[in-house]
Amino acid sequence: MYSQMLCGLCQHKEVLRVGAVFASGFIRAIKFLEKHWRFLCNDIRTGTIDSQITDQSVREAVMKILKPDPQLADFIEAECSKDSWQGIITRLWPNTKYVDVIVTGTMSQYIPTLDYYTNGLPLVCTMYASSECYFGVNLNPLCKPSEVSYTLIPTMAYFEFLPVQRNNGANSSISVPKTLNEKEQQELVDLVDVKLGQEYELVVTTYSGLYRYRVGDVLRVAGFKNNAPQFNFICRKNVVLCIDSDKTDEVELQNAVKNAVNHFLPFDATLAEYTSYADTTTIPGHYVLYWELSLNGTTPIPPSVFEDCCLTIEESLNSVYRQGRVCDKSIGPLEIKIVEQGTFDKLMDYAISLGASINQYKTPRCVKFAPIVELLNSRAVSSFFSPKCPKWFPGHKQWINMN
Ligand code: AMP
Repeated sequence: MYSQMLCGLCQHKEVLRVGAVFASGFIRAIKFLEKHWRFLCNDIRTGTIDSQITDQSVREAVMKILKPDPQLADFIEAECSKDSWQGIITRLWPNTKYVDVIVTGTMSQYIPTLDYYTNGLPLVCTMYASSECYFGVNLNPLCKPSEVSYTLIPTMAYFEFLPVQRNNGANSSISVPKTLNEKEQQELVDLVDVKLGQEYELVVTTYSGLYRYRVGDVLRVAGFKNNAPQFNFICRKNVVLCIDSDKTDEVELQNAVKNAVNHFLPFDATLAEYTSYADTTTIPGHYVLYWELSLNGTTPIPPSVFEDCCLTIEESLNSVYRQGRVCDKSIGPLEIKIVEQGTFDKLMDYAISLGASINQYKTPRCVKFAPIVELLNSRAVSSFFSPKCPKWFPGHKQWINMN
């Protein structure tokens, strides 16, 4: 990261495109720059590379690009030491035309942060892919992030589709096996048979030998390019919070969180990262959201604002959840735990120490693994609960009983 950043800064006028695979990786790179720009400036000023970079081949490669340039070092220093880092990308790399980064699915959470650092440069999501198989491309790369659709390339694998009804989480299964049962095999449809507007789980048979493998992604048919279907990425299928009969998937959670963070507007604060946990160690169990905030304003956020956030999230969740809260009392008040700055970086470091790839890392939107929950809890600085029950009307339940 350090060496790449150094080369990128040395050649700052030639850089036309910046990016990373996922938005979270790109933001991490900006944070890295925030932490290390003084060392980078020093290297550029003197034309030497910091001794902390010990890999000989990396040092040699960087030294082919690095030349002493005190003027450039002064320029970078002046930009980076300004109070605000708004537009830092376009200030340091003035010829950048766009940011090549995936912001579909829950990565859309990072769009406001990216807009802030890039002064609203176009965010281009070019591809939809995985370690197992490349899936497709975005044929309209300059479209708005909310309108991105991917056209699957039929020669990349054999694609099949399992219809899904998300129905506010009511029909989602909690864990998704990687194989299909007999009934599901019969429900599969081919690429040519998908229907506009319908949601499907993607199933692939790959050249390297995976047979009818469930990728775990839910896609919706957004339209067609000639006869080729184009898909919106909707969510990962197995991200489900569940206490009782409620099921909350990542799209629903993301929308609820988005509604709640509007309460921060007067405080110039943003939600940098979040994840969730279904805590069943208490009776009744309850949802816990871990939030890491970026605080730009000076006015402290009063506890009542966080309590309002808890309630807004509950109000935004589906009626099965609210019924569990209000009528069945099987779900306790939702809790928000504020964690120290840097907690989600620690989470990533932990995942990487277990073998995750830095380039492909995505913040989990729901955690279950005990050491991760412990890590989050150990960094919680405050905790807030929903002060009352969300609204719920029994109409739907009565209708079910009548049948
Ligand atoms: P990995 O195998 O770790 O590279 O992760 C692949 C997964 O990343 C996919 O199954 C998706 O869940 C997610 N992913 C990849 N490309 C995109 C995209 N363009 N938009 C949203 N999610 C994506």
